[in-house]
Amino acid sequence: MSVVADRPFLPFARPVLDEATIESVRAVLASGWITSGPKVLEFEAALSSLFSGRPVRAFANGTATMEIALRVAGIGPGDEVITTPITWVATANVILAVGASPVFVDIDPATRNLDLQAVEDAITPRTRAVMPVYLAGLPVDMDRLYAIAGRHGLRVIEDAAQAIGSRWNERPIGSFGDMVSFSFQANKNITCAEGGCLVLGSDDEAVRAERLRLQGVVRSGLDGMDVLVPGGKANLTDINAAIGLGQLARLGEITRRRAELVALYFEIAGALKLQDMGIDLPPAARAQGAIGNWHMFQVILPAKGPGGQRAAVMQSMRDAGVGTGVHYPALHLFSHYRSLGWREGMLPHAERAGRSLLTLPLFPSMSADDVERACTALADACRPYAR
Ligand SMILES: *Cc1c(COP(=O)(O)O)cnc(C)c1O
Repeated sequence: MSVVADRPFLPFARPVLDEATIESVRAVLASGWITSGPKVLEFEAALSSLFSGRPVRAFANGTATMEIALRVAGIGPGDEVITTPITWVATANVILAVGASPVFVDIDPATRNLDLQAVEDAITPRTRAVMPVYLAGLPVDMDRLYAIAGRHGLRVIEDAAQAIGSRWNERPIGSFGDMVSFSFQANKNITCAEGGCLVLGSDDEAVRAERLRLQGVVRSGLDGMDVLVPGGKANLTDINAAIGLGQLARLGEITRRRAELVALYFEIAGALKLQDMGIDLPPAARAQGAIGNWHMFQVILPAKGPGGQRAAVMQSMRDAGVGTGVHYPALHLFSHYRSLGWREGMLPHAERAGRSLLTLPLFPSMSADDVERACTALADACRPYAR
């Protein structure tokens, strides 16, 4: 491990896995049944109680979860799905995977989430669904989102990959709405190492999602087997589910700790006058009622100066022992999406965010001193460019 001034490198994310969780994984490994089994059922039941008893199915990862959600909704060739370009590319890749077309709309710079007015303006007769993403775990205005979907008869497939533990007023994201997809990839607030889950609005759709998860196979009796749809292979293992159960037990504590660290970030950023250097701090709850889980603490570097020099800022922070991340480049500008007709200049707010968003370290086992180190390293890295 590299060490700067006797302090270990500070990564931007790090899971907290306790001894009890490690022991529960050992027990699964020793049990003789290591793939999908009782732990997955237990994990699905625990998630369902978090989501007001709605049906939940677990999957191998968040990407497979979203693809199956689109298939269950019957979305395919000729259909348009509206989403944001400031997301992990999985969101748009799965739309293409089912044969539909992603339609990107610009973000609202205040929330960095998709602009709901732009969503409504982008609806055409071919629009079948909206896929909102809650960047850094901050929900959009959920009342307005569902009002738009209701008015136009659209499905809502929420990419809530980053939003476990986030709330809309008093209700957890996932406990209401249409289909809600979560990811338990290693950097998410709670993890299975890899995993995902889908919350559905009906048992009928849950059964269809379950079939698509394992080749479309339906069994009856001891030797009866049929295939109703050509499904894939996206089941979660009991090993991963055991990790998820250990994490879920600590969701409240993890969410509270992240909020504490964020309060400290705002305090120290204020003291160091980061905003006077042109650095944009993350949105606090902007839509009234949106309570994020602080999946990330992201700044936007100044428009002039370090915005165009993000790599130099990252290098300087790395040299100071502080890790950072980029979440995300505007995905409509990736080569494949350009080949579908998307161009620079179409979504200016997203393009600016995509060039200058920077994710600072945030994870529960960080100390106050770590927050101070991150802010100081950012200030030092930006100072040469400050206006
Ligand atoms: C993590 C993530 C995904 C994908 O989840 P995986 O479990 O890595 O497949 C999709 N969308 C967003 C916004 C994510 O953050």
